Amino acid sequence: MNQTDLPLPEPANLIGNVWQPAASGATMEVISPIDGQPFARIADSGPDDVDAAVAAARAAFEGGDWSRLSAAERGRLLLRLARRIEDEAEALARLESRDNGKPIRQARADMAVTARYFEYYGGAADKLHGEIIPFLKGHNVELHREPHGVTGHIIPWNYPAQMFGRSVAPALATGNAAVLKPAEEACLTALRIGALAVEAGFPTGALNIVTGRGETAGAALSRHPGIDFISFTGSPEVGVLIQTEAARNFIGCTLELGGKSPQIVFDDADLEAALPVLVNAVIQNGGQTCSAGSRVLVQRGVFDTVVAGLKARFEAIEASDSGEDSVLGPLISARQKARVEAYIANAGAPLIARGRIAPGTPEHGFYVAPAVFGPCDPGSRIAQEEVFGPVLCVIPFEDEAEAIAIANGTDYGLVASVWTRDGARQQRVAKAMRCGQVFVNGYGAGGGVELPFGGRRKSGHGREKGFAALHDFTTLKTIVTHHG
Ligand code: NAD
Repeated sequence: MNQTDLPLPEPANLIGNVWQPAASGATMEVISPIDGQPFARIADSGPDDVDAAVAAARAAFEGGDWSRLSAAERGRLLLRLARRIEDEAEALARLESRDNGKPIRQARADMAVTARYFEYYGGAADKLHGEIIPFLKGHNVELHREPHGVTGHIIPWNYPAQMFGRSVAPALATGNAAVLKPAEEACLTALRIGALAVEAGFPTGALNIVTGRGETAGAALSRHPGIDFISFTGSPEVGVLIQTEAARNFIGCTLELGGKSPQIVFDDADLEAALPVLVNAVIQNGGQTCSAGSRVLVQRGVFDTVVAGLKARFEAIEASDSGEDSVLGPLISARQKARVEAYIANAGAPLIARGRIAPGTPEHGFYVAPAVFGPCDPGSRIAQEEVFGPVLCVIPFEDEAEAIAIANGTDYGLVASVWTRDGARQQRVAKAMRCGQVFVNGYGAGGGVELPFGGRRKSGHGREKGFAALHDFTTLKTIVTHHG
């Protein structure tokens, strides 16, 4: 394993396997959330750069070397990239931690998951096949799965490397040529993984990366007439814009947006097992996880016990500088810190406990002490809106019907968990959840590359991860042959 820190990437885009500065020459600062200081620069790209990237992808898809590879050959390239990411995992994790602020242990876990995306979809590339449909006599009907063509990918800053793998790996596995616009707040590992892809032998134009701001580079990509499909992960507000542009271009899109995911604890739950998981589900990655378990719904009989357990645990949590022992690092930016502090100041519910910021933590970093509130009114802002920080709200309930109503009572629908020893209730409640993923007696944010993941309503639509993503990145063609 490579223990040395990587050289910082140049402020350049990856277009047609060549690193190129923005056409305008503009660059922008990258600030580390750990100390609030600038430490790198990236290309501040505009529509010209997006045009060039889309053209390179188009050339790769239509007649380029990429288009001539068999599915097995594409799969082998993805597997080679997975191995390169594993080889550099420690250095990539350090870069991710500095760029995003996440604790180094979280960053290491992220790199393992990122490599796993390329491994999983590398293995799957030649296992996706068509079907034959019985039809009228004298006809042969084949159903072919074909790549869309050029796919656009816009991802957020919370898991920069993981989101790259989640969005781009299935697109490449199915033969699309990709243009990625990572988040301006944290994209250095995406650039490094782009370099590893070139080293691994990806043909010219198969994978292109354009950095820059959402309203310029992102908007230019989302409205580009040269893309055939777009995959977006980020806020619901931008998701609406992406879907609107996709509609104007008559193309499909997947949207992975936010969440306000409930963790439901019944009287008969194993509280010793549940409590650490309930806390971790909202503390992991500073709560900056779309699937954060940010609402804990607790049945009256164990409400006081659960609150006491949460209080003890939250009081023991320290936000710190993301080093070896850190469980909670800084938030991504001064803006996010101010937003989360405003939610805490205006929670409108009793404060159960607040953790603290560890002494000696860099003064200008974006640290927030975690907070747990309760009992919260299920209709209040803190219980309805996505905070995207280490903030948990606790809501009491009387019976199963009320728990289901509260759990389903937000605009979101991404993940839920159910804690009970009653097998029949596990089934009933899991089936009643209006969301894309349910955990019983556990909570699995992150990981689970094999498991289809995605939302309903304001959490978005389409599915990533697992074989489901391969379906989203392909389109069906029916070929009917009349042979008499
Ligand atoms: P954001 O929507 O502002 O940014 C996400 C990406 O979109 C970035 O790359 C950004 O540059 C780009 N973007 C911004 N404005 C754009 C525009 N007008 N046109 C095109 N692209 C544009 O979100 P954020 O603040 O970076 O991330 C936080 C939000 O993302 C939270 O709501 C969170 O729940 C959500 N999120 C969801 C998932 C998921 O898997 N469902 C994962 C991570 C984050």
